[in-house]
Amino acid sequence: RFISLEGGEGAGKSTQAQRLADHLAARGLPVLLTREPGGAPGAEAMRRLLLGGAGLDAVAEALLVFAARRDHLVSTLRPALAAGIWVISDRFVDSTRAYQGHGQGVPAAAIEALAAVALEGQAPDLTLVLDVPVAAGLARARARGVAADRYERLDEAFHQRIREGFLAIAAAAPGRCAVVDAARPPGAVAAAIASLVDARLP
Ligand code: C5P
Repeated sequence: RFISLEGGEGAGKSTQAQRLADHLAARGLPVLLTREPGGAPGAEAMRRLLLGGAGLDAVAEALLVFAARRDHLVSTLRPALAAGIWVISDRFVDSTRAYQGHGQGVPAAAIEALAAVALEGQAPDLTLVLDVPVAAGLARARARGVAADRYERLDEAFHQRIREGFLAIAAAAPGRCAVVDAARPPGAVAAAIASLVDARLP
């Protein structure tokens, strides 16, 4: 089984990914926690390039995140899924749809063409979209002090497009996606995610 967690800055994905991994392990399931961009040595090198302020335009970013995703798929995801391991990925293809697509205007058709080449049909069984108002998410991200070069570079309108993009993606794929109110305290969000996963992937 393959579960992806998605959301904008400060949505709490990393915390919730870890808590979901703990929950599944407590169910007695083998679990692998991974992330994008990254999740394999080559893909992590591409993440450093992407987040290191290389000044790439949106199309180059899209190409790079898909190169990283391809490496992640081949080196990490496929072997784990083939071994019967439950995989939780902190971000996956919906992040490209939201950030490079809705956020930066790369055409959806181009993103879907790249996705088809890179992923050969591999999709998550369940995608949890962690939704939080933009101002609250940015405040959380700033308080944590990470990736400032990325999230400070563009204005609040950019992050608003990301949030609306994720909500549109979820609304268009209700069989795969569920939106989780992530403005609540971490324990409440974790409990909501655990019951969603137990109900949809028993
Ligand atoms: O999820 P995490 O906070 O680790 O993501 C790191 C950064 O990567 C985020 O700040 C986000 O802006 C950026 N990102 C991106 N395009 C993607 C995926 C992530 O710009 N497709």
